[in-house]
Amino acid sequence: MSTETRLIESTDGRGPWKRFICRVCGLIYDEAEGDIDSGLPPGTRFEDIPDDWECPICNVTKVDFDPYVPRAITDMPVSTAVRSRETGVVIVGAGAAGWAAAEAIRAHDGTLPITVVTGCSGDVYYKPELSIALTRGATPESLTRETGTEAAARLGVQLLPQTYAVGLSPNLGMLRTTRGTLRFTDLILAQGARSTAPDCLPPELVWRINDLTAWSGLYRALSTGPQRVVIVGAGMVGCELAEDLARAGHHVTLIAPDSLPMRPLLPVPAASRLAAGLKSVGVTFLGDQTVKRVARSTHGKLCVATMKGDTTAADHVIAATGLATEQRLSRSGGIAFDRGIIVDPKTMRTSAAHVYALGDCVTIGGAPCRYIEPIRGQAEAIAKAILGHEHDGYVHKTPTVRLKTRSTPIVLEGWISAYGEWRILRDDADVLLMEQWVGSERVAKLAA
Ligand SMILES: Cc1cc2nc3c(=O)[nH]c(=O)nc-3n(C[C@H](O)[C@H](O)[C@H](O)COP(=O)(O)OP(=O)(O)OC[C@H]3O[C@@H](n4cnc5c(N)ncnc54)[C@H](O)[C@@H]3O)c2cc1C
Repeated sequence: MSTETRLIESTDGRGPWKRFICRVCGLIYDEAEGDIDSGLPPGTRFEDIPDDWECPICNVTKVDFDPYVPRAITDMPVSTAVRSRETGVVIVGAGAAGWAAAEAIRAHDGTLPITVVTGCSGDVYYKPELSIALTRGATPESLTRETGTEAAARLGVQLLPQTYAVGLSPNLGMLRTTRGTLRFTDLILAQGARSTAPDCLPPELVWRINDLTAWSGLYRALSTGPQRVVIVGAGMVGCELAEDLARAGHHVTLIAPDSLPMRPLLPVPAASRLAAGLKSVGVTFLGDQTVKRVARSTHGKLCVATMKGDTTAADHVIAATGLATEQRLSRSGGIAFDRGIIVDPKTMRTSAAHVYALGDCVTIGGAPCRYIEPIRGQAEAIAKAILGHEHDGYVHKTPTVRLKTRSTPIVLEGWISAYGEWRILRDDADVLLMEQWVGSERVAKLAA
């Protein structure tokens, strides 16, 4: 939401404007700004919003929002249990996880030194918005909720932007960065995961949309008018981007190795609905195809060739082929790693004392979990552990997956098993309801 639309003072005699945070995606509804896109003008009180209003990013309703009060550092208590207040906490990464960790500590302690080291600018934005942003008419500026400098000032932390952590010695309490070595009493790794793509999708020819900087580059490249875009990979991000770009007027081809999008995660009836929805907004889906090569012609255009010998001309190619956690830091610190930084599921502590991790970079219970919903609970557990506060620990549960394709929104709850049996409860023009069973246990349910 742009700051120009924000009403400065409330005029309805019902007290100051309030903010509410979506527990699922982290969107903050600010009464002063409203949400013009969903018909809520600036000054719309949260309690006046209809119950069936949906979060513009993840489609949950009002019951999934909590009151949100940004911390003012002056009125915060001070915890005394931290080993050394002089050195303090260092956080690596300023995405949702890094900032959530800083917020959670500041909620309990106003003075503990915190340094945030990040390879990016540290600007605050909602990453889930990137795959629905063009349709919403967003710009890089409107997607930036707060600059890194503003967030750092609000939370009273030192921000080291454009700085990479490159080495770690947990025993010495030292983190090596591209701007020198930092000492820490506790370290929080919130370094996220990077887009990965096979060699046939070289980074110099192919976009990878995993942060605001990359999205902003694509936004500018697409701003000259309708273009031909090939998206490789039909997982959640590939499908959402495909619909968003197609709705924004671009000619989108979505290529995937399976016969339907989001297979094998989705059962065939749901994936078929999704395919139909994507088709209805103009996406051409090329299933059962694996990309062999992307090459640039002498005229500057791209050509995507598949193993089956088909070729598609494109102005832009986007790889939506998955994520992987960078291993270098944890390797240098001797921290246990298996597709992500292994953490204790209750404390979020890594295999090294006083080193914690959260967000996209971790592996919990043997699997990475790359969603927004768990991050706040993880951050709270880490903050309390560092500050020596009593706490029950983090309780991990599989987040609800909400596919933000407006043509076919899909909600998936539970832990999908490769061996489970999907059963249809209802399948008509309005809705598809399915459940997955493993033996006598229902493990997942789906609504499309
Ligand atoms: C297009 C898109 C749509 C999505 N939609 C949804 C959705 O609808 N619902 C949902 O739950 N999730 C969604 N996700 C996933 C969700 O956005 C992520 O789970 C979440 O944002 C991860 O936050 P993070 O802070 O762990 O990682 P990131 O946001 O990746 O942050 C990592 C940070 O670490 C920094 N960093 C990395 N390495 C280093 C280093 N060596 N030194 C210093 N800094 C470093 C980076 O600069 C960055 O600041 C989506 C993701 C994408 C890409």
